[in-house]
Amino acid sequence: KAEKQPDWCPGCGDYGILSALQMALFELKRDPSQTAVFSGIGCSAKTPHYLNVYGVHTLHGRVLPVAQGAKLANPHLTVVAVGGDGDGLGIGAGHFVAAGRRNVDMLYILYDNEVYGLTKGQAGPTLGLGEKTKSLPKPNPQSRLNPLLLAFAAGYTWIARGYAYDVKGLKELIKEGIEHRGLAFLHVLQPCPTYNDLHTKEWFAPPGFTSSRKRATTPMSPQGFPRRSWTSKMMLFQEKALEWGERIPVGVFWKAELPTFEARLKAYLPRYPEAYPARGPEAPLDLEGLLQEFAL
Ligand code: SF4
Ligand code: MG
Repeated sequence: KAEKQPDWCPGCGDYGILSALQMALFELKRDPSQTAVFSGIGCSAKTPHYLNVYGVHTLHGRVLPVAQGAKLANPHLTVVAVGGDGDGLGIGAGHFVAAGRRNVDMLYILYDNEVYGLTKGQAGPTLGLGEKTKSLPKPNPQSRLNPLLLAFAAGYTWIARGYAYDVKGLKELIKEGIEHRGLAFLHVLQPCPTYNDLHTKEWFAPPGFTSSRKRATTPMSPQGFPRRSWTSKMMLFQEKALEWGERIPVGVFWKAELPTFEARLKAYLPRYPEAYPARGPEAPLDLEGLLQEFAL
């Protein structure tokens, strides 16, 4: 158990995500000495401080390069990257897209509260056009970016959405994302009670609604996908990814099998599986040969 206690605001959705991540790592029996959780900057970025695993609180928008680098340096690590919507889809959007093209074997969890919570609630990239939270002087003049569609376009091979207060459901999604072979993207709807007074936990699950009528419900059945053609799977994915209102789908939206970046590296560095950089001088990689091959 990590000694430091979370200091998020009371009722923050980050507590649910942290609990789900702790339970998922425990249930998967991941060795803490072989697990690393990386974060960018923001409220969500405190997550590694509260976990009894290795981790680095990196720079704003830069969590994916650091996490991918760690995984490639030691392909035996279980690697999870976390960050908020502003961190990952604002300043970090270029890295978000580039990571999808590589398919490094790790999980990226995006905590989406639609605002920059750490800096007093400015509009984040996922806040809708014309929406006005209590910390904005005027309605948002920019359109909402859809993280699921962007992940699909970038090439992420496992794409899912969870809800921060559905801790058990989220735990299962995190487990599946960690076990997926390739880059997994988990979009989490995360209420920020301090700055986002539009999409609160009451909005996601209005009082009096039964659990099956919550907005963030689970109609997705990835098992139903394989029998469909690729085109109809893509159409269904887009339709579900754009659904936002009376019902908001959660669950696994997309799953594909593609060689991981680690597997692709083997074509250039045949000794990579046993001589990865974290092994140090005892198993040096033949980088000289590679450099000469690509020399002009
Ligand atoms: Fe959570 Fe919002 Fe408080 Fe940040 S500002 S800790 S996201 S409730
Ligand atoms: Mg945010």
